[in-house]
Amino acid sequence: MSHTLDFINEMQLALEQELQTLNKDLSSVSSPDVGDHVAGDYAPIYKHSDEVGDENSTLADDLDAHAVNVDVTATLEARKAHVEQAIAALEAGTYGVCAKCEQDISEERLMANPAALLCMSCAQ
Ligand SMILES: [Zn+2]
Repeated sequence: MSHTLDFINEMQLALEQELQTLNKDLSSVSSPDVGDHVAGDYAPIYKHSDEVGDENSTLADDLDAHAVNVDVTATLEARKAHVEQAIAALEAGTYGVCAKCEQDISEERLMANPAALLCMSCAQ
């Protein structure tokens, strides 16, 4: 691996900070999944109109809001899975190496996306 230790440390810090932000964002749109009937670790929060204090809100509005939470939860969970994979690669000592062709991933690409697991050409 040609990446310097300083660079790896910098990426590790960025990944850990992103993971914290993701966990915070996830807890704002969803609650930790208590059952195993929903894929992922989080279940989107269902906000009823009584709870959001909007008397004019209809069931359809509630369902729309729920659908948005489902989308946001799915996006955040997918990103979290990427970040966790990258952190696992850091621990395994394989971070910064393309998972497909095993060439070094450029520092430029990693700075843009610290969770990148594929080099630029394999990602295309
Ligand atoms: Zn590659």
